Amino acid sequence: MTYSQKLRDPRWQKKRLHILERDDWKCCACGDPDSNLQVHHVYYVKQDPWDYPDSAYQTLCESCHSERQKIVDSGIENIRMELKDVPTEILEEVITSVLGHISVAVEYFDERGTR
Ligand SMILES: [Zn+2]
Repeated sequence: MTYSQKLRDPRWQKKRLHILERDDWKCCACGDPDSNLQVHHVYYVKQDPWDYPDSAYQTLCESCHSERQKIVDSGIENIRMELKDVPTEILEEVITSVLGHISVAVEYFDERGTR
Protein backbone atom coordinates (compact mmCIF):
# COMPACT_ATOMS: atom_id res chain seq x y z
CA MET A 1 0.00 0.00 0.00
CA THR A 2 1.42 3.41 -0.92
CA TYR A 3 1.31 6.34 1.47
CA SER A 4 -1.44 8.09 -0.48
CA GLN A 5 -3.47 4.87 -0.48
CA LYS A 6 -2.99 4.69 3.27
CA LEU A 7 -4.36 8.20 3.64
CA ARG A 8 -7.53 7.01 1.92
CA ASP A 9 -7.82 4.02 4.22
CA PRO A 10 -10.92 4.10 6.48
CA ARG A 11 -8.67 3.51 9.51
CA TRP A 12 -6.81 6.76 8.79
CA GLN A 13 -10.05 8.62 8.00
CA LYS A 14 -11.36 7.58 11.40
CA LYS A 15 -8.15 8.59 13.18
CA ARG A 16 -8.09 11.93 11.37
CA LEU A 17 -11.68 12.72 12.39
CA HIS A 18 -10.85 11.77 15.96
CA ILE A 19 -7.91 14.25 16.03
CA LEU A 20 -10.04 17.05 14.51
CA GLU A 21 -12.73 16.39 17.14
CA ARG A 22 -10.15 16.37 19.94
CA ASP A 23 -8.75 19.71 18.76
CA ASP A 24 -12.26 21.16 18.54
CA TRP A 25 -11.96 21.70 14.74
CA LYS A 26 -9.52 24.57 15.24
CA CYS A 27 -5.91 25.18 14.27
CA CYS A 28 -3.72 24.42 17.34
CA ALA A 29 -1.31 27.19 16.34
CA CYS A 30 -3.55 30.18 15.49
CA GLY A 31 -7.00 29.00 16.63
CA ASP A 32 -8.51 29.56 13.19
CA PRO A 33 -11.67 27.43 12.80
CA ASP A 34 -12.44 28.49 9.23
CA SER A 35 -9.38 27.67 7.14
CA ASN A 36 -8.75 24.33 5.53
CA LEU A 37 -7.71 22.17 8.50
CA GLN A 38 -5.05 19.50 8.20
CA VAL A 39 -3.77 16.88 10.61
CA HIS A 40 -0.07 17.43 11.17
CA HIS A 41 2.34 14.62 12.00
CA VAL A 42 4.39 15.85 14.95
CA TYR A 43 6.94 13.09 14.29
CA TYR A 44 7.42 10.14 12.00
CA VAL A 45 8.32 6.57 12.76
CA LYS A 46 7.95 3.56 10.52
CA GLN A 47 4.35 2.49 11.10
CA ASP A 48 0.91 2.95 9.58
CA PRO A 49 -0.59 6.41 10.17
CA TRP A 50 -3.57 4.99 12.11
CA ASP A 51 -1.25 3.16 14.54
CA TYR A 52 0.35 6.32 15.96
CA PRO A 53 -0.82 7.55 19.38
CA ASP A 54 -3.04 10.66 19.33
CA SER A 55 -0.16 12.68 20.78
CA ALA A 56 1.65 12.29 17.44
CA TYR A 57 -0.93 14.51 15.75
CA GLN A 58 -2.01 18.10 15.84
CA THR A 59 -4.68 19.98 13.89
CA LEU A 60 -3.26 22.89 11.92
CA CYS A 61 -4.68 25.21 9.27
CA GLU A 62 -3.11 25.00 5.84
CA SER A 63 -0.93 28.09 6.26
CA CYS A 64 0.34 27.24 9.78
CA HIS A 65 0.98 23.71 8.55
CA SER A 66 3.19 24.69 5.63
CA GLU A 67 4.92 27.41 7.66
CA ARG A 68 5.61 25.00 10.49
CA GLN A 69 6.81 22.25 8.20
CA LYS A 70 9.23 24.65 6.55
CA ILE A 71 10.66 25.99 9.83
CA VAL A 72 10.94 22.60 11.49
CA ASP A 73 12.54 21.00 8.42
CA SER A 74 15.16 23.74 8.07
CA GLY A 75 15.72 23.66 11.85
CA ILE A 76 16.37 19.94 11.78
CA GLU A 77 18.90 20.28 8.96
CA ASN A 78 20.71 23.07 10.81
CA ILE A 79 20.72 21.15 14.08
CA ARG A 80 22.15 18.10 12.32
CA MET A 81 24.89 20.28 10.80
CA GLU A 82 25.71 21.87 14.16
CA LEU A 83 25.81 18.52 15.93
CA LYS A 84 28.44 17.12 13.57
CA ASP A 85 31.15 18.91 15.57
CA VAL A 86 29.89 17.84 18.99
CA PRO A 87 32.04 15.00 20.35
CA THR A 88 30.01 11.78 20.55
CA GLU A 89 30.68 11.32 24.26
CA ILE A 90 28.88 14.55 25.17
CA LEU A 91 26.19 14.38 22.46
CA GLU A 92 23.54 12.97 24.76
CA GLU A 93 24.22 15.70 27.33
CA VAL A 94 23.91 18.41 24.66
CA ILE A 95 20.61 17.01 23.37
CA THR A 96 19.16 16.73 26.88
CA SER A 97 20.12 20.32 27.55
CA VAL A 98 18.56 21.54 24.27
CA LEU A 99 15.32 19.66 25.04
CA GLY A 100 15.30 21.35 28.46
CA HIS A 101 15.45 24.77 26.78
CA ILE A 102 12.63 23.82 24.42
CA SER A 103 10.33 22.76 27.26
CA VAL A 104 11.07 26.03 29.11
CA ALA A 105 10.12 27.97 25.94
CA VAL A 106 6.91 25.95 25.59
CA GLU A 107 5.94 26.64 29.23
CA TYR A 108 6.62 30.33 28.69
CA PHE A 109 4.30 30.47 25.69
CA ASP A 110 1.67 28.36 27.46
CA GLU A 111 1.59 30.82 30.35
CA ARG A 112 1.10 33.72 27.97
CA GLY A 113 -1.64 31.72 26.23
CA THR A 114 -0.29 32.62 22.82
CA ARG A 115 0.36 29.25 21.28
ZN1 LIG B 1 -3.32 28.23 11.85
